Amino acid sequence: MSTNLDYDTIVIGGGFAGVSAVRDLCDQGYRVLLLEARDRLGGRTWSETKKIGDFEGVVEHGGQWLWPDRQVNMMAEVQRYGMTLQQSPFPDHYPTLSHGEHNPGPLPVPLEEIYDFERAYFQIMTDAARMTRGVPLDKQNVADLDIPFSEYLDKLDVGPKTRAYLSFLCYNDTCRYPDEVSALPPVSFIANMDHSLIKTWGIFEDYLTEGTGALINAMADDTDADIRYETPVASVSQDADGVTVTTRGGDSFTAKTAVVATPLACWNDIEFTPPLSADKAETTRERHVAYPIKIWAQVKNAPKPVASMADALTSNGAITAFTQHDLGDDGQVLIGFFIDHPDRPSFGTDFAGVEQFIHTLYPGAELVAYDAHRWATDEFAGSGWVAYKPGRISKSHSRLSTPEGKLFFATSDIAIAFLGWIEGAVDMGKKAAVDAARQMTREAIEVSVRAHASSAATAVPR
Ligand SMILES: Cc1cc2nc3c(=O)[nH]c(=O)nc-3n(C[C@H](O)[C@H](O)[C@H](O)COP(=O)(O)OP(=O)(O)OC[C@H]3O[C@@H](n4cnc5c(N)ncnc54)[C@H](O)[C@@H]3O)c2cc1C
Repeated sequence: MSTNLDYDTIVIGGGFAGVSAVRDLCDQGYRVLLLEARDRLGGRTWSETKKIGDFEGVVEHGGQWLWPDRQVNMMAEVQRYGMTLQQSPFPDHYPTLSHGEHNPGPLPVPLEEIYDFERAYFQIMTDAARMTRGVPLDKQNVADLDIPFSEYLDKLDVGPKTRAYLSFLCYNDTCRYPDEVSALPPVSFIANMDHSLIKTWGIFEDYLTEGTGALINAMADDTDADIRYETPVASVSQDADGVTVTTRGGDSFTAKTAVVATPLACWNDIEFTPPLSADKAETTRERHVAYPIKIWAQVKNAPKPVASMADALTSNGAITAFTQHDLGDDGQVLIGFFIDHPDRPSFGTDFAGVEQFIHTLYPGAELVAYDAHRWATDEFAGSGWVAYKPGRISKSHSRLSTPEGKLFFATSDIAIAFLGWIEGAVDMGKKAAVDAARQMTREAIEVSVRAHASSAATAVPR
């Protein structure tokens, strides 16, 4: 191992996975360089103080909610940096929209289908009970569930309203349509949520008062890492001496190890020498992409506090819109999600499209102002979060995060627990830091053993 390397570790990508790895490695005294493509940290989390109509406050364009009871890594960060949590308002109104029909709630399905609902609920819980949080899905004998979500619904054999309501599990987890994505990650998410379907719907509660940006900046400020912004990485090569990372601008840096903490959808944009293993290379090429548009909107004349669910298949991609802030006479701030599919109808993000989205869920409501970001076409995200197509995750899950030589991989898109969530990103970042540190320690020991052996061999015997 050369002693002239620039750093111990180069971390590529400054989302929660990358910054967790940076912070943990710096805590242990390693020299770390973080290369981030954007002009900010946070990646698919992005908070800023903003004005939307009559509302002014912290707006989260991406990842926002966490679950304090079980997301232990996130809670450790929240406590370490003195952040505070608050809850989105609990809804008084719980309407559903399926097959173009508005149901005011509170029951999600009509009474004539209530036994269908009970039977399907029992089957889903039985399937989720086969899974253990924290064990990769290729090690759990659940390949029979790695089928299109639509096929999974067919097997449940329920009435149309129940089917529409249960599809929400797919929309919520993947922001894709049931014929395109696997049933396995959405069902396994119930295992993550203490085997409770109700908790799975209810995760949109606790969020950081100060915003995710305040937390990730506090984590980065707590390090002595070199951080370079607006520095997208073009290539990564490794040999016996170490790793060389070259930016699109042509600068090269060397290190003993590197952590690839870019989104799965972006691995394809980096040239790896030697190439990534077949599982990783094929998976990034297959584009397991979620298409969410998350809007923050000031809306008048809608019920409040409210939380709706829609059958995206028959509502043009609309999924949900729920109360985030009550603005009194000025209405409320709703957070909404819809599917921004490239090949199917989408509302789009101009005023008329967002207004149509709001009217779909709340006929008669008035859209005053809004904010939205298109994640799937964002060059350095490539996807809102991961949405696995059928047949991949039950085959490759554990191998997507296997280290390759001096490279370690960390992103929520390959997380073993809380796949696709900020918690999963932090968990994978921490694991990559442990693995990289372990490898550097092992190599340091080998170097010192070799040096000792050669000095013993050349020593003049008395
Ligand atoms: C609309 C939306 C809502 C969500 N809601 C929630 C939620 O409520 N709760 C939750 O837990 N999760 C939520 N998520 C998911 C969550 O935000 C992500 O799972 C998590 O933030 C991903 O973290 P990461 O570090 O793995 O990846 P990222 O945050 O994407 O970080 C990767 C970083 O790599 C950088 N990068 C990319 N390419 C390069 C390159 N070539 N060179 C250098 N840098 C590069 C990117 O700029 C980025 O900063 C949501 C996501 C979206 C989009």
